[in-house]
Amino acid sequence: MKIAIVGAGFTGLSAAYVLSRRKHQITIFEKEATVGGLASGFKHKEWQWTIEKHYHHWFTNDSFAINLIKELKLSQKLFFPPSVTSIFYGNKIYPFNSPNDVITFSPLSVKDRLRTGAMLLYLKLLPPSLALNMENETASNWLKKHFGEKAFQILWQPLLIGKFGKFADQVNMAWFWARIKKRTPKLGYLEGGYHQLLERMLEEIKAHGGEIKFNTPYTSDLDRSFDKIIFTAPSFAFIKTYPSLPDPYKRRIASIPHLHALNLLLITEKKLLKKDYWLNINDRKFPFIALVTHTNLVDKKYYAGKNLTWVGNYLPPGHPFLKMSKEELFAIYQPFLQKINSNFNDKLQTINCELFLGPFAQPVFFTGYAKLKPDFRTPLRKVILANIDMVYPWDRGTNYAIELGFKAAGEAEGFPSAD
Ligand SMILES: Cc1cc2nc3c(=O)[nH]c(=O)nc-3n(C[C@H](O)[C@H](O)[C@H](O)COP(=O)(O)OP(=O)(O)OC[C@H]3O[C@@H](n4cnc5c(N)ncnc54)[C@H](O)[C@@H]3O)c2cc1C
Repeated sequence: MKIAIVGAGFTGLSAAYVLSRRKHQITIFEKEATVGGLASGFKHKEWQWTIEKHYHHWFTNDSFAINLIKELKLSQKLFFPPSVTSIFYGNKIYPFNSPNDVITFSPLSVKDRLRTGAMLLYLKLLPPSLALNMENETASNWLKKHFGEKAFQILWQPLLIGKFGKFADQVNMAWFWARIKKRTPKLGYLEGGYHQLLERMLEEIKAHGGEIKFNTPYTSDLDRSFDKIIFTAPSFAFIKTYPSLPDPYKRRIASIPHLHALNLLLITEKKLLKKDYWLNINDRKFPFIALVTHTNLVDKKYYAGKNLTWVGNYLPPGHPFLKMSKEELFAIYQPFLQKINSNFNDKLQTINCELFLGPFAQPVFFTGYAKLKPDFRTPLRKVILANIDMVYPWDRGTNYAIELGFKAAGEAEGFPSAD
């Protein structure tokens, strides 16, 4: 079959990888100049490794990603270094990696700490078959009820508000459960960056006769040249590409709100965070939700000895930060960075920063999302949708994008062919 793949992120490349090996004629359309979508990377010329525009790591249970890495003979490049996850609360940093960290988390009473530990263990052990029922309850309600008001206010509410803003009270508990269930103590990375895997996939696709058109947004008039189209770009782009889709369908997929990811990457001479890789900011007076120091996971020697820290945010469409320059944003963030590290002074320590926007990066999963979730099948006979809104209840990640791409490939082969 002649198959068009829209989008060269992990989903699109995974579908193309499978289908090109099965002798289909593949053309990938990518509106940007590079592969990778939300996981795409960049590199300063003096760096040895590429870094993602938005922080990325794998969990040890990301089996689709790890198996693909093996299949592409990149296993020797995959590594799981030690890393520290912490919480910033009440102007202090608390490690939050292990049961011991929970038990010694002093902002909570001993009783609340024990209860938190027990509830985290419960969520970890709860099987998916039972956890999926939790999608009918909001995370806020469930967490308040089971962790207690105080633990909810200190640990979870700031994160829900930080990430989902006005939707914080509507996110369902199945999604929250999946975040706890999936997390592993060790976090992995690929020597050279995620770009290595993306490039290997593209090489394989090309070796099997596939082609890629960069800087080429897909348009519906191209449909006539293909037997199947696998559309992996966001639902917003899907509706825009196919304005003739039936209204009820358009309304349904347009009713899933999305947040944009906005990451300011600080490239500094000195360390902003001493040892923490991931620092959740549990103080909603701060204008960002996390600091992620890549070079506390990966040796800074690969980046010409510089320290790389993302200042992370998720923002709704129309938020004023989305229109700001990196300098304007840095000026807003800087006093808060100084609250975390009093030595952090822009002139002394920030060498450079880069600003990245990941559009439609986080769908909001309301209660009862399973009914709203888009399907591979669309009202258009030849067109399959396979995008981030379908990764549920698991938190969107490259592992699930790879799985989704593989499944979409199977779906394409099972579809009736074009006339
Ligand atoms: C801040 C942040 C942190 C993350 N952290 C992690 C992590 O630690 N680990 C992890 O595994 N995952 C992480 N992820 C998630 C991961 O990046 C995504 O789940 C994954 O990359 C999604 O891949 P995709 O192919 O489905 O979508 P995308 O990457 O969005 O790819 C869609 C592609 O379609 C293209 N496109 C859009 N419109 C058109 C059009 N009209 N025509 C042609 N092309 C078009 C886009 O340019 C893009 O390349 C993170 C994401 C973000 C934003």
